[in-house]
Amino acid sequence: MWGCAVTETQFGGDEYDVSVSVSEAAVERALDVRPADVAPASSLTFARNVFVPLTTACRYTCTYCTYYDVPGEASLLTPEEIREQCRVGADAGCTEALFTFGDQPDDRYTAIHEQLGEWGYDSIHEYLRAACEIALEAGLLPHANPGDQTRAQMATVADVNASMGVMLETTADVQAHGGPRAKSPEQRLHTIDVAGDLGVPFTTGILVGIGEDWRDRAESLLAIRALHERHDHVQEVIVQPVRPNARWQGEPPGAETMRRVVAMARAVLPAEVGVQVPPNLTDVRGLVDCGVDDLGGVSPVTKDHINPDYAWPALDELSAIADHAGVPLRERLPVYERFLPADGGTADDGWVSQRIWRAIEDGDRYEAVRAE
Ligand code: SF4
Repeated sequence: MWGCAVTETQFGGDEYDVSVSVSEAAVERALDVRPADVAPASSLTFARNVFVPLTTACRYTCTYCTYYDVPGEASLLTPEEIREQCRVGADAGCTEALFTFGDQPDDRYTAIHEQLGEWGYDSIHEYLRAACEIALEAGLLPHANPGDQTRAQMATVADVNASMGVMLETTADVQAHGGPRAKSPEQRLHTIDVAGDLGVPFTTGILVGIGEDWRDRAESLLAIRALHERHDHVQEVIVQPVRPNARWQGEPPGAETMRRVVAMARAVLPAEVGVQVPPNLTDVRGLVDCGVDDLGGVSPVTKDHINPDYAWPALDELSAIADHAGVPLRERLPVYERFLPADGGTADDGWVSQRIWRAIEDGDRYEAVRAE
């Protein structure tokens, strides 16, 4: 049992209306896990996506991040740009429109707010909803990752997303999140909790190498597990190493660290939750015996806008990784199969909205992927 114990650490609090308990015994067990303790996965999966960086405005300034732009320089895609990027993705056989965001632009981003107002939108979430509609019209399933969200914000877009996500990164207060505008682990936990309340299939993850220690990694994974046990809504957990870039010159985590933390994730998380590593940020061949079962979203048409210095491997390379592991490679949709209605079912039998389920049922491309 990963959940039982006497001594517990609490995460969350009244400010964000979330409370998560992690037992000391579970932390100790997680800290003991090594790669030899977990079984390799029997297959590897991936999703074919198009990255649509809706806005680079972000109220935070994480020191490892090159995604955000400062006020006056931040971009906001026009509806025409969104439509064109979705068209290119759909033509390339993608199934997912990944809407990447900074965290909600604050008052400093006057140009972004004025532009949204000119286009008739009161908020970035209203605009995200319109962007998701464009993706659906193009034959793509939206998966939005708009940072922290309130319940009202997520409810604005939940029914037009196949799944959503936010990286927890870590439950620790680390210097890399510091400065005058530091993002809060509690707020991230709240967002994951809200997704469960709203019945949204959800992706989250931890970021390795931003100043957290082994205990922090164990507690972060256990906090995700606790929220999943509350709602059953986490579909996958990304184990992502931080990598050097123009704003971050720190050493990335080494191979042995990644092997141990991936094994820890596999041991801590229930079997139905995927363990994902990004193949452009780490040597997956060295991790496939540690319980990795998913390679995440990979785009044949756009760069990784979060890590633009690190190119996606070609789809052939994903096949070579699976061959190396001796397991089949399967494409999947951005929402895991267990959240969809069983054969002959209606949307009421699954987690996705009527709108998303209709799109999946009507899309030949989706059907082909589900039949793999
Ligand atoms: S990591 Fe996310 S929250 Fe932090 S600055 Fe970058 S976009 Fe903003």
